[in-house]
Amino acid sequence: MVEKIKCGVLGATGMVGQQYIKLLVNHPWFEVVDVAASPQSAGKTYAEAVKDKWQMDIPIPDNVKDLTVRDVQDYAKLPKDLGFVFSAVEMPKKDDIKAVEDEYARIGIPVVSNNSAHRWTKDVPCLIAEVNAHHVDIIPAQQKARGWSKGFIVVKPNCSAQSFLTPIFALERAGYKVDKLIITTLQATSGAGYPGVPSLDLVDNIVPLIGGEEEKTEKEPHKILGKIVGGEFVNDESIKISSTCTRVAVVDGHTAVVNVKFKDNVPGQEEIVKIWRGFKALPQELGLPMAPKRPIIYLDQENRPQPRKDRNNDKGMAVTVGRLRKDPVFDYKFVALSHNTIRGAAGGGILNAELLKAKGFLK
Ligand code: NAP
Repeated sequence: MVEKIKCGVLGATGMVGQQYIKLLVNHPWFEVVDVAASPQSAGKTYAEAVKDKWQMDIPIPDNVKDLTVRDVQDYAKLPKDLGFVFSAVEMPKKDDIKAVEDEYARIGIPVVSNNSAHRWTKDVPCLIAEVNAHHVDIIPAQQKARGWSKGFIVVKPNCSAQSFLTPIFALERAGYKVDKLIITTLQATSGAGYPGVPSLDLVDNIVPLIGGEEEKTEKEPHKILGKIVGGEFVNDESIKISSTCTRVAVVDGHTAVVNVKFKDNVPGQEEIVKIWRGFKALPQELGLPMAPKRPIIYLDQENRPQPRKDRNNDKGMAVTVGRLRKDPVFDYKFVALSHNTIRGAAGGGILNAELLKAKGFLK
């Protein structure tokens, strides 16, 4: 039997951290041996630390319930044989998260992050495994520039990015260059972490602002679609994006309403659906355990996708798309949905780690 790589979860008690714990039970390649959170949780057993806020639909798993939670910044208590960490911490300042992730990498522990802190760092890849897997090629340059021998940092983009960018990337890859996008997101409550948005602000309501989210939606695709030049990413800003991000009273599953204008060559409607249904990329070719078999599921039903019915498609890892139709102002419009704490957070992070292992970066 092949020995599993031992991993830790930073922020293991939070919304995303709990999803990591759930998804990593019986993972064929990775085994959770370390759970870390804030100083308030440090020293408690994992079961004790999450007892009042466990949100998963399974009991607290046996493999972690008796682990002692470590303070994320207590580096002296790190298990000796830790292969890497998943990072999903929330801290008052982004620079604090940056400093923590840098320190893990410096002491030789690769960091597979969900946080936004390093998304704009010039030599840190921001990965959607089906879109820009080749961006991991920057890791040796990142390590060299910082004098890190084994450690490195990769991040994943904002929790709704894959829902619109994967279908758009599939069309660009098929030769249909996109010019403009208008994206309106309807984002779930779990995207705000635990305990999230107060119920009196959310029930019977839509909150038309999520701080910082529109900027992330408009800019992160440029890095993801960019190129590595001289050990840094150069953004591809050829798609102009305008977005409005709203918070809605849905527990899980971010919806994106997308209007798309192509540059010159406009595909037919049937052609678009064919491209989406046939889309596969490296994670599918490599057969990575967390990879959805079909990264984009197109539904013909007129009233889909819907969060409650479609967010768990293919382990919560597929992007479900529907309602493709002509747009009288742009060329087309459609609705896309993906599970924010699975595909948009922990599941996406695990897929990135599987990609890194398959490419020899995690041992
Ligand atoms: P959350 O539910 O608020 O969890 C935050 C985690 O960070 C908890 O484990 C918490 O530990 C820990 N923490 C808080 N303050 C800390 C400190 N000073 N030092 C060390 N650890 C500290 O948040 P979340 O939704 O899981 O989000 C975690 C990260 O993932 C954020 O950066 C978020 O932007 C990102 N993200 C979230 C989503 C999503 O859908 N929720 C999607 C993509 C990315 P205690 O329990 O001990 O307080």
